[in-house]
Amino acid sequence: MNLSAEHVERLRTLMMQPPQRVVIVAHTNPDGDAVGSSLAWAEALRSMGHSVTCVVPNKYPYFLDWMSGIEEIVIFKNDTEGVALKAVAEADMIFCLDFNSLSRLEILSDTIAANTSARRVLIDHHLSPAPGFDLAFSYPEASSTCYIVFCLIEALFGVEFISTSMAESLYVGMMTDTGNFAYSKLTPGLFRAVASLVERGIRIPTIHNNVYNSYTEGRARLFGYAIDRKMQIIEEGTVAYMSLMEHEMRRFQFQQGDSEGFVNYALTIKKMKVSAIFLAHRKFIRVSLRSRGDVDVNLFARKYFNGGGHKNAAGGKSFVSMQETIDHFVRSVREFAEQGYLDKKVSKVEN
Ligand code: 5GP
Ligand code: MN
Repeated sequence: MNLSAEHVERLRTLMMQPPQRVVIVAHTNPDGDAVGSSLAWAEALRSMGHSVTCVVPNKYPYFLDWMSGIEEIVIFKNDTEGVALKAVAEADMIFCLDFNSLSRLEILSDTIAANTSARRVLIDHHLSPAPGFDLAFSYPEASSTCYIVFCLIEALFGVEFISTSMAESLYVGMMTDTGNFAYSKLTPGLFRAVASLVERGIRIPTIHNNVYNSYTEGRARLFGYAIDRKMQIIEEGTVAYMSLMEHEMRRFQFQQGDSEGFVNYALTIKKMKVSAIFLAHRKFIRVSLRSRGDVDVNLFARKYFNGGGHKNAAGGKSFVSMQETIDHFVRSVREFAEQGYLDKKVSKVEN
């Protein structure tokens, strides 16, 4: 990934102006990359003298609670005092991190779209970025937004500028978005970046434990239940799906983040090409999709679930019942297969 030097200089010019009021926003259901990139970029901007408010539409998963500065992130859904609205209304600049279109902000979309005269800068690695940003660092070839933020900080100030807490935040996104450095897009540049973060003093085993080994007992039991009782396999063993209703999640004291990783698990089965999970929410069903190799679930999500994402990890929503959602999925997979989209070779090298 090569940052556009011209874009970096434009950003430098924007950021060198006197202290500015900045808002950083990340996507709904913020993950390690959304939160990590927001926290690191916020710290970088604060070091430059700007005042920064980080906002996310809803709560991040509890296994990120340990991250430095996370308590200062405003959760729009719980923001009864209007801190986010005020920050957005007063902002000179808004950085949009780890999403490609304002619609991904869901309950926060209108606020960021209309309630401000701030310049909007996109920093993201999803396919098909929406137009309308004043400046866009859109690199779908980057494995995480944290890696793009690392490259930006390196280009603007040099790696010495990165504090240990910034380095930890950046590592969280690099680690989680690559499935612990196992998916595609693992470039030499990414590992050089990780080496720099290690030089900044990050403790990889501690971060790994904090993120991956901090679940509740309920989550472990829900996982067993989901795999054993709910996973269905179709298309001659190449497509798996599972669904969880609200009452099933409640039975295992479900908390936001507990289903993290479930959808990946079916892909540990040798022949599997696509895995899906349907999670019931009050108003809709959230669809998560994963694939291996050349099978493009971003395309599938766009075509059948009004969503998007990356080639091997995408999502969308369904506004009909669980049974209708599953029926629609099974029919859609059939059509997708008939059009040849499941037959593309599964590469052993690139996941
Ligand atoms: P996850 O399954 O982890 O929620 O999401 C996987 C990927 O798909 C992420 O990159 C996420 O941004 C994207 N994604 C998830 N849900 C949606 C959606 O409703 N619309 C779009 N455009 N992308 C989504
Ligand atoms: Mn990401």
